[in-house]
Amino acid sequence: MDTLGYLRRTHYSNEIVPAVDATDVVIFGIVASIREHGKLTFLILEDTKGLVQVTIHKNNVPESVVAKLKEIQEQSFVGIRGKVKSTEKAPHGAEIVPDEIKVLSIPHCLAPFKLYKQRLPNIEKRLDLRAIDLRRPQPKAIFKIKHVALQSIRSFFSGQGYLEVETPKIISTATEGGAALFPLLYYNKEAFLAQSPQLYKEQLVGALEKVFEIGPIFRAERSRTMKHLSEATSVDLEEAYVNYEDVMKTLERVITFTIAEVLDKCKDELSLLKVKLKVPQMPFKSYTYDEILKLLSDEAIEVTWGNDLFVSELKALEKKLPDFYFIKDWPTSSKAFYLKAKDDKPEICESFDLMHGSLEISSGGSRIDQKQALVEKLKERSFDPAAFEYHLKVFDYGMPPHAGFGFGLDRLMMVLCKQKNIREVVLYPRDQRRLIP
Ligand code: ATP
Ligand code: MG
Repeated sequence: MDTLGYLRRTHYSNEIVPAVDATDVVIFGIVASIREHGKLTFLILEDTKGLVQVTIHKNNVPESVVAKLKEIQEQSFVGIRGKVKSTEKAPHGAEIVPDEIKVLSIPHCLAPFKLYKQRLPNIEKRLDLRAIDLRRPQPKAIFKIKHVALQSIRSFFSGQGYLEVETPKIISTATEGGAALFPLLYYNKEAFLAQSPQLYKEQLVGALEKVFEIGPIFRAERSRTMKHLSEATSVDLEEAYVNYEDVMKTLERVITFTIAEVLDKCKDELSLLKVKLKVPQMPFKSYTYDEILKLLSDEAIEVTWGNDLFVSELKALEKKLPDFYFIKDWPTSSKAFYLKAKDDKPEICESFDLMHGSLEISSGGSRIDQKQALVEKLKERSFDPAAFEYHLKVFDYGMPPHAGFGFGLDRLMMVLCKQKNIREVVLYPRDQRRLIP
């Protein structure tokens, strides 16, 4: 086995093109395949940018290179120094003729699934060996798209004057309902993993006005589904001096901007995943909760007013509403305690969900900004206001009217990459059954 030594990368696979014909280059990567034709050997090398062909004619390369060939197996990690040679037969129209090969790592075993085949074993098997699964082109494409989506979201919010913040993930109280909390031992006290940055981001708008956070949320979900994980990434926004209608516009703008960026920067990845993405039309369609109940009733599905809407029910509307749309003005009782009721109709709150078909992408709304109203809401929901004292006391100093939302980055990724299972768009997913790797 060789060591890295002085060898350093000069080019990626996609830079080996006729324009650099006759240039000396160094590339690194994994050997995707080895083919022999008499005195000719073709190595196909894969790096993060794609494939490159290395052609070895036994009469035209140094003895040491021919000797090295005997060591190399598929999926070995190698470094290759050589000269670029234009040829129409190679990817990108050029290949490398090596002067030196370093074999940096030889696998002791091969992946139990074919890295380059379309048919795959089930996802659980792949997740058991996720680091190797990630060498396949599809997950690479997915995580490139996730990277571009994250960058787009950050640049959009920054450009609009929102400050990126980080709030604690070890907290003392529930925000989204007590049942779904993960308790933990915090020194000698009980604490919990944060279900959302809700209360902290609200506190922050009193000082920083416009904030966003991209971070993990933890939920001990009761059922195991294709769109719930125990640990997910949430994109949260909170803003002072606006209401829910304003942040709905911000939400549709950030989603539209992100999709446009992904379309622009990830053409190859989208085509590899066979995804036909379109920039959605703004404004997004918007229905009140009551209007959705009516649409469901037209499909012979009767929902009692006040109940949450189930995916099984919303599936009936997927034909009519396949893209992004809002459901707004939810019954106050169906939403979290911190949502603000309508002034003239307290049974309805200033709230919305952003949907894509039957998949919930985001929830948001105007927030209660009066301490007494919050205390009453907490009592109604059988929360102990004393446990929220650290939060409630901030309201004693005054709090501006504010609104915000949280959207599931992984849920949006399911839409961008057309994946049915959220586990495909998370590097190391966590669910009821999975804590490793
Ligand atoms: P759902 O009804 O789909 O379980 P929720 O209404 O409980 O979601 P919210 O508290 O509104 O979730 O959280 C805001 C967003 O965070 C959701 O719209 C969703 O995109 C995302 N999200 C919530 N829980 C999860 C989870 N367990 N796994 C992945 N994403 C989640
Ligand atoms: Mg929700």
